[in-house]
Amino acid sequence: MPQKKKTYPSWSMFPEHHDSVSDELAKSGLLFSFNEDDDEDSCSQDYDTNIMGRFRCHRGNCKTQGWSSKRIAITIRRYHPASYNVRVYHQRCKSCNSLSRPDLDVQSYVDRITYRLKKWNGLQVETPVYFGESNAPHEEDLCEGCKMGHCTQSGGRVVTFPDYW
Ligand SMILES: [Zn+2]
Ligand SMILES: [Zn+2]
Repeated sequence: MPQKKKTYPSWSMFPEHHDSVSDELAKSGLLFSFNEDDDEDSCSQDYDTNIMGRFRCHRGNCKTQGWSSKRIAITIRRYHPASYNVRVYHQRCKSCNSLSRPDLDVQSYVDRITYRLKKWNGLQVETPVYFGESNAPHEEDLCEGCKMGHCTQSGGRVVTFPDYW
């Protein structure tokens, strides 16, 4: 009997961080709900950018200690009248090629999402600056965002953080 192949998704959403996003938006008088239904056809606006986080390999016999990434591709979508959602693209383990869902750096997630939603609402926003820029090359083969055409790092583009706010 053939073994059932376990397929792991190439992206996922993190509605558990909506409260943090919501609190930050409330400071600017904005109210958005999280749209659980990710739909590229019905959204009114979308934007590809990236956040930071850590990955662990879930394959039992893999020896990797996990890896951190400052370039996790995400797609932010906005829907009428006032909801949004965010796709976070997974990455593959360098050692065994299995897909992993990240543990997000929540601050970078909240900063990116609220920045974009405020901007879409016509508010004046300052571009935050992150320190500790990594010069590590982006590995397109391991990034699902690259594969799906939603990564700001794909196509050999080398960009620094502030450019992609
Ligand atoms: Zn692995
Ligand atoms: Zn990528």
